Amino acid sequence: MEVQPKQPSIKGPADMFTGDVWFDVLAKGEEPSRLRVNAVHFAPGARTAWHTHAAGQTLHVTEGVGLVQSRGGDVVVMKPGDTVYTPPGEWHWHGAAPDHFMTHLAMWEAVGEGQGPETTWGEHISAEEYGTR
Ligand code: MN
Repeated sequence: MEVQPKQPSIKGPADMFTGDVWFDVLAKGEEPSRLRVNAVHFAPGARTAWHTHAAGQTLHVTEGVGLVQSRGGDVVVMKPGDTVYTPPGEWHWHGAAPDHFMTHLAMWEAVGEGQGPETTWGEHISAEEYGTR
């Protein structure tokens, strides 16, 4: 076994996120494992852009109040203890509510070589889509 010391937090890049988002990599499996676990911290109003995960994704809220939406669906509130599963290829976004911080664990799998990107990114979430205009 190996104790892995906490690594520095990483700022979420502006081409994938709106607002202040920081993540901590908790697990990054080495082959043959494809495990990926990040703790993602969103400031109030911060959110991902639209995106899909090749192998799906499970979110588990640990703090605050969050929002999540799949393309064509309603914006859904998520709270600590809630777990949200998004199947492979489904367009969605997730983030904090306008007036609350939110932290979730994000759990997904990398994909094998030649199977394309594990996450595909699209447009940012407008204020209208987010619900603040
Ligand atoms: Mn996602």
